[in-house]
Amino acid sequence: GSEVHLRVRVAPLGNRFMLLLAADRTEELRLAGVRRDFVANISHELKTPIGALTVLAEAIEAGAEEPERVRAFAKRMQVEADRLGRMTKELIDLSRIQADDPLDHPERFPVARVVEVAVDRNRVVADAKRMRIIPRVLEEAEVLGSEELVTMAVQNLVSNAVQYSPEATHVGVGVRVVDGIVEIAVTDKGVGIAPEEAERVFERFYRVDPARSRVTGGTGLGLSIVKHVAVSHGGEITLWSRPGQGSTFTLRLPAADASATEENA
Ligand code: ADP
Repeated sequence: GSEVHLRVRVAPLGNRFMLLLAADRTEELRLAGVRRDFVANISHELKTPIGALTVLAEAIEAGAEEPERVRAFAKRMQVEADRLGRMTKELIDLSRIQADDPLDHPERFPVARVVEVAVDRNRVVADAKRMRIIPRVLEEAEVLGSEELVTMAVQNLVSNAVQYSPEATHVGVGVRVVDGIVEIAVTDKGVGIAPEEAERVFERFYRVDPARSRVTGGTGLGLSIVKHVAVSHGGEITLWSRPGQGSTFTLRLPAADASATEENA
């Protein structure tokens, strides 16, 4: 059927890790194109909520509206301002990730803590949908890089899993280590992603269903942040999905060398 098992491989920024030494030129060139479109995309994306805010404010100022409608407009303005705020925050996050290399000043941190914080930050939204997020940390592992950025990436994956799943379903967050690579897999029983969309969802501002995503407040930036976090840590992000049944996003990061801990201690 329409099952997709796609690996989105991205060339690492440096060549610190043997793991991904083979740089994929095609992907590099494609990313350069995406970057060129960035300014055009960003102005378009920001114009939509700003335009809505302007129109709504003008309507209220004209004073011809019933109080009931004024309240509805104000509510709509809150939604748009909220979205604008989230978009600004995510854009700042994204430019920060691109501006500095987390491996220039790396810190060691446990993946278990990343998962705990990322799950915790999604608790309220999950509870509201009667969903349970189930962490399964099978192995203790540490990663070298920015704990804040990796947490942000996992948080985004969990947030998407909750957002694109029906009520009362479960989201799994599994951690294991395979050949020196830490795998953080976020699995949902949600709407899934069609094969033809699989690669595009990692692009900035791309949303499979913009109308629906607007209602739920999506910005289309979450997965591009995840991708950049993966790349800047010498790792990768892969996606497995079956439309209508669910998705698994797996973030793979090189495990911090266990022997290095003892040397440094
Ligand atoms: P958004 O803010 O819209 O969630 P993302 O970059 O995080 O932006 O995701 C891009 C698009 O990929 C989403 O709009 C959604 O259509 C799709 N998507 C992301 N995660 C999932 C998931 N777990 N299940 C189904 N679709 C997803």
